[in-house]
Amino acid sequence: MVVAYNPPHEQTASVYATALAQFDRAVRYLNLDDGVAEFLRYPRREFTVNFPVRRDNGKVEMFTGYRVHHNTVLGPSKGGIRYSLAVNLDEIRALAMWMTWKCALVNIPYGGAKGGVVVDPKTLSRHELEGLTRRYTAELIPLISPNMDIPAPDMGTTPQVMAWIMDTYSMTVGYSVPAIVTGKPINIGGSLGRNEATGRGVIACMVEALKGHGSGKSATDTTLVVQGFGNVGSNAASFAHSLGYKVLGVSDVDGGLYNSKGLDMPAVRAYYAEHGTLSGSKLGDEVTNMELLALECDVLAPCAMESQITGKNANKVKAKMIVEGANGPTTPDADDILLDNGVFLVPDILANAGGVVVSYFEWVQDLQAFFWDQEEVYRQLQRAMARSYYNTEATAEEFGVDMRTAAQITAIKRVADALETRGFYP
Ligand code: NAD
Repeated sequence: MVVAYNPPHEQTASVYATALAQFDRAVRYLNLDDGVAEFLRYPRREFTVNFPVRRDNGKVEMFTGYRVHHNTVLGPSKGGIRYSLAVNLDEIRALAMWMTWKCALVNIPYGGAKGGVVVDPKTLSRHELEGLTRRYTAELIPLISPNMDIPAPDMGTTPQVMAWIMDTYSMTVGYSVPAIVTGKPINIGGSLGRNEATGRGVIACMVEALKGHGSGKSATDTTLVVQGFGNVGSNAASFAHSLGYKVLGVSDVDGGLYNSKGLDMPAVRAYYAEHGTLSGSKLGDEVTNMELLALECDVLAPCAMESQITGKNANKVKAKMIVEGANGPTTPDADDILLDNGVFLVPDILANAGGVVVSYFEWVQDLQAFFWDQEEVYRQLQRAMARSYYNTEATAEEFGVDMRTAAQITAIKRVADALETRGFYP
């Protein structure tokens, strides 16, 4: 009998509960040993740090950060670092678990991890952000290394933040270690194509999904709405636009923009780059995020954050296909409603895996000190995404399940098989 891992200090409705509910749904189709299934529900390590940062006004302020290693059966753990006021251990634990399944699903030799600091990075000066990043990294030193755990960017963190992590780690060990982190700037060992990899991967999945589950419309007649205009959302919207798809709506935390004729994406990007918000652009009608999710369109790509499509608004979704750029944007009760409504959903651990795929390429390039050109990165990314998409689709057909359950079945089976081969220590 499998019971929820729910430590007494955190018994509230949680993102981790969503991750566990998805896991339980998939595990029913696998004939796993009870001990193996139970083991896979638990994070291996959870690290909480409280640390000081001196603000520019001279005052010292305390911050809290986390790093969770969910599972390391397939290799070193891999996962982003998030800077957000919404960060908490429950959320990081869920994101770490999803990283385990994502890496296994796309067949790269990594386990899953995630980290975060409870901070709104927009409230810090560049100097304060650097101080916070360096001190958080220093606190993580016992847990990270190119062979143990390799961080990457996530919400609220950037290539520059990765550069400070790389420098802090390198200064501590006494030599330069580019492979300690991925998503770095190119000039210190980053990979060409990493920045846009997640967004490109989302659209690569959408293109494959439309072939078998679309209405047969041409790209120019196919409409897309994207929630979130950060690394994932802006690159997904721009790549789709460059392939000829009609992007009707985009949004950021302040709200969205809608144009029934299709948005001029280069103009939207230029406005966002100048103003740091989509508000006030006049490039489309202003809509709220909730209105955006309910827009009439062929494909909806939630690329902002978790729990955006829930039991409360899933019935309002008019898109016929959802491609999840964000991690955990759809709750399990919303999954059921969407399934009943015939919406074809490409799940997060598949659709947004392009980021970790190119992060893996970056790590490989750093370890070999041999760098690929952009064409090679894009070619290998496309191959990995298409292969993973069709593997998942084949599992969905084999078990007669939806794509989320199929992705979880595929991933959990790979980790469980490796665990059986390795055996339990001691
Ligand atoms: P980001 O910080 O670059 O962008 C986040 C975007 O979401 C911003 O436009 C922000 O304004 C918007 N946003 C924040 N809160 C919102 C809200 N409540 N409603 C609507 N919009 C909101 O982050 P990102 O790296 O693009 O990550 C977005 C999502 O994709 C996260 O779930 C992340 O875990 C996931 N993801 C990121 C990567 C990556 O490579 N960066 C890879 C895989 C998955």
